[in-house]
Amino acid sequence: MMMIGNNAFNTKILHIGIDDTDSINGRCTTHLSYLIAGILVKKFHAEFIDFPLLIRLNPNVPFKTRGNGAVCLRIKCNYYEKIKEEITQIVEKYSEIGYGANPGLAFYEENNISKDLLQFSKNAMDTILSKQLAIKIAKKNNIQFRLFGKGHGIVGALSAIGCLLDSDHTFETLAYRREQNIGKIRKTNDVKVKRLSDESYPYTYNNFDKKNSRILITPHGPDPVFCGIRGEDPLLTLFFLKNLCIEEELDGYMIFRSNQGTNLHLTKENKVTDMKPYTAGHINCEVATTPNTIKGGHVIFKIKDKYNCMLPVAVYQPTGLTKIAKKLTIGDKIEIGYGVHLKSNNQTTLNLEYLVVKELVRVFEVKNPVCTKCSKSMKSEGKNKGYQCSVCKTRIGSVGKIKSEKDREINSGLYIPEPIAHRHLTKPLPRYGIEKRFDRFDIILMLKSITWIKNSGGLI
Ligand SMILES: [Zn+2]
Repeated sequence: MMMIGNNAFNTKILHIGIDDTDSINGRCTTHLSYLIAGILVKKFHAEFIDFPLLIRLNPNVPFKTRGNGAVCLRIKCNYYEKIKEEITQIVEKYSEIGYGANPGLAFYEENNISKDLLQFSKNAMDTILSKQLAIKIAKKNNIQFRLFGKGHGIVGALSAIGCLLDSDHTFETLAYRREQNIGKIRKTNDVKVKRLSDESYPYTYNNFDKKNSRILITPHGPDPVFCGIRGEDPLLTLFFLKNLCIEEELDGYMIFRSNQGTNLHLTKENKVTDMKPYTAGHINCEVATTPNTIKGGHVIFKIKDKYNCMLPVAVYQPTGLTKIAKKLTIGDKIEIGYGVHLKSNNQTTLNLEYLVVKELVRVFEVKNPVCTKCSKSMKSEGKNKGYQCSVCKTRIGSVGKIKSEKDREINSGLYIPEPIAHRHLTKPLPRYGIEKRFDRFDIILMLKSITWIKNSGGLI
């Protein structure tokens, strides 16, 4: 059993898990949680014992909507039955049920998260879990739940509750639009985004793509999110948002604590025989075939683990890692983060998510000697017959081929995709070395000192 919160209250903690309320048509689970959190604070005077959690699950699940993110709200309050009733109505009313959303909603009244729920949540980061297993765990732990549509969201709802996020984590301040502006173009000041991003480096991340001069804070769909500022600190992400001077009148914002940018889905080390389709993880292995560039500029090569089991790895062009992948050679020792994909021919392929070059093999090339007069490569006159220069006809007899070590033109170290190709969970370069520790007391202090939710509307 893991302890969260304290026991100074008579009531137990109520954990609320929500997932899969959105569809490609718009709406989103974070926005619904923002509406619910607003009601919990204003109407029920609920005390939040953690920031709203935005938990991204295994990004390789084939039937996800956009980001595969679930939300958990953890509160203390006196009106649990009334709250459950009201939240259920909101989810039913505001979800895209019938348009691709299959919401799951879970209520767990308990101060400690049970071991099997913690494990279920861990597994949801890198494997595929069934609705049936989720229901079984819910029943066993006295978790009340509601399924809407096909109810797939119950997996994410439980996973979010079971994710304590008690190691590395990040924050994202999400700003929401007013109803009448949804669907309109999002106007932002690119210069401001770039400047704020520079000034807050490395404590904010993936808000501006310097290399391609692209803004990353705004989504492009018809959803109610205006923008999201990602970073290490709730106050800093909020400061970033406030200093953007957005002209559009926004509905408000909410600060989420999240596993985004942590590589949480890649923590498990696997061997080739463990790799099931749509799972994720990392593996220490050796390059087994020469990398081959295919149509579209993607690079394919095979790796083998220490049991000599092989699998192909695909390095996609947009990741910006194909140039590096091309320079790998048979025998190089590497570590890769991957998602397992199933190609149309039923071939399991690892999609590369990061690459660590650990040990490069030495490569030698054998060349004919060079003419001492004109520096041209000489031609062999036949076996053991020496060489002749084709320009000045100089001959040499006794010298054999020259063996020289080739420059590998690649350094050992970490290589990660370009920000534009990042998934929500991808750990970006600036975060390496500044991973956070978790301190419950710090979180409580921050919650009390920051306006982490504002939904009164108006300019932010
Ligand atoms: Zn010559």
